[in-house]
Amino acid sequence: MYNGVLPPTFAARQRTLAAITRLTAPMYRTHTCNELRLSDVGKTVTLSGWVAASRDLGGLTFIDLRDRYGITQLVFDMEDNAPLCERARRLGREYVIQASGIVRERANKNPNRDTGDIEVQVAELVVLNPAKTPPFTIVDDTDGGDDLRMKYRYLDLRRPCLQKNLLFRSRLSLETRQYLAAQGFVEIETPFLIKSTPEGARDFVVPSRMNRGQFYALPQSPQTFKQILMVAGYDRYFQIVRCFRDEDLRADRQPEFTQIDCEMAFVHQEDVLQTFEGLTRYLFQTLLGVDLGPFPRMTYDEALRRFGSDKPDLRFGMEFCDLTALARGKGFAAFDQAESVLAICAPGCASYSRRQIDELTEWVRRPQIGAGGLAYVRYDTDDSVKSSVDRYYSGEELRHWLHHCQAKPGDLLLILAGPTEKTQKQLSELRLEMGARLQLRPPNVFKPLWVLDFPLLEWDEEEGRFFAMHHPFTSPKAADIPKMSSQDHQVLKSIRADAYDLVINGVEIGGGSIRIHDRELQSRNFRLLGFTAEEAEAQFGFLLGAFEYGAPPHGGIAFGFDRLCAVMNGAASIRDFIAFPKNNQGRDVMIDAPDVLRPKQLEELGICIAQRADEPKQ
Ligand code: ASP
Repeated sequence: MYNGVLPPTFAARQRTLAAITRLTAPMYRTHTCNELRLSDVGKTVTLSGWVAASRDLGGLTFIDLRDRYGITQLVFDMEDNAPLCERARRLGREYVIQASGIVRERANKNPNRDTGDIEVQVAELVVLNPAKTPPFTIVDDTDGGDDLRMKYRYLDLRRPCLQKNLLFRSRLSLETRQYLAAQGFVEIETPFLIKSTPEGARDFVVPSRMNRGQFYALPQSPQTFKQILMVAGYDRYFQIVRCFRDEDLRADRQPEFTQIDCEMAFVHQEDVLQTFEGLTRYLFQTLLGVDLGPFPRMTYDEALRRFGSDKPDLRFGMEFCDLTALARGKGFAAFDQAESVLAICAPGCASYSRRQIDELTEWVRRPQIGAGGLAYVRYDTDDSVKSSVDRYYSGEELRHWLHHCQAKPGDLLLILAGPTEKTQKQLSELRLEMGARLQLRPPNVFKPLWVLDFPLLEWDEEEGRFFAMHHPFTSPKAADIPKMSSQDHQVLKSIRADAYDLVINGVEIGGGSIRIHDRELQSRNFRLLGFTAEEAEAQFGFLLGAFEYGAPPHGGIAFGFDRLCAVMNGAASIRDFIAFPKNNQGRDVMIDAPDVLRPKQLEELGICIAQRADEPKQ
């Protein structure tokens, strides 16, 4: 009897649906390619799918039939039906076929496959669609290069590893919805055609035909809308939503990406942290069976001091050790003049050869890292100490450094010096590199961390003004509000915000803040960021206006959904978790976008494109 719930197996589902709809039309399949087991032996079945591989053994032809559920072996027997076997031999890779026959027990079982105990002895074969030979093999370990796979993404997406990733992503969004809905969150869609704002990254813009000369922008995030929804009284909002940022691309960046975007009214920071720690723990538990335990917390200042980064990877130690005071005043100019002399202690690396150390020195000198040089102190297992700076420092002094950094015999101190911020960044990169080289960053170990108390403002040398470190709607900590009237840059830099990031394994998974909900304070913040009253009104007048009609205290967070997928699977790039990603030039090579517009379209949009001298004439 149908009670509104469909049964879990494919075959039973088909029967139930056929009973409801009274459909008598023939079915393409009775089972999927991952459904048949020993208990089905003797049944007559029909399967449909793609030819993944075929093996011709003379008297017998075997075909691996693939669909997204798995693979089932089909067997064609020359003695049994020679013409059919001949036809099977001619099937090419990736042909779409339908095969009917009887399930039988396999002589040679394949324990690595769910259907490995059985095979289908085929009596009827229909070619539903032939296929050209694919330009690369449709297996996890494919021979296809990146460009080729992106061009034929539909073939790439047939590969089991990518199917696994996209199914994971689908489950992750379902579970996210499940959890948030159970916590009273309401899913509300916000517009994609909005208005360009000068803050944040560069906007993608869309010309408006009906408003000649005017442009929409695609949202970098639904930030202002979700705050407006709090003013509108929805209390708890979420959306799994696409965001757009026109930035130069890196391996873990895409011009369009997905966020789990949330906002809550009548909350303090603690409420937001607990709710989203709960979501994260639930997702790891449900999808991976991993209990993350309570998340440690660290202030931004502490994270920088201990790891040189606001997103430290806590899977391993190698914390920073400050040698500035010990290293100064002994005549070594590079250290004497440095604002900071910082070290990490690489465990067990005292055995590094001269060449290995030279290679590390080259590594930190590359423009991507930009260090001037690398000093070391080697603490050998025989208790001797050797250093690249032993001309300036006595054995006793170097031992003092080792002691200060809690080095053990067999360890190697790696030391960088220079302006504090820069040196922290460089040493943080070196720490991650050493962590990777020493295999201290296993992909299946997960170390979450809340980073709290971010600065409100960040000084931009080039533009000569302050920017909001998170965004302009972030609330300063109540105790620091008086500092907002200071003219002193150092004081302004020291204003802390109620802003927080969730970091897992050194990747920023989420970030959010408690928001300003008071018009006056918001206007003050805009002034600090260099907006005139008119500019603030023109850009964000709607929000300032809304704050005058009963805005509740509120705050929220957004998780990078693609990144969360990648981190949960121990993958470095988000691309393998996005069905149709862009390449490094921001292009979709399958559909060949972006593309030029026809002159008529441009004319309708009132856009005139100046031809560059070096461009071929259209
Ligand atoms: N809108 C912010 C972002 O996209 C997140 C937040 O503050 O909720 O990073």
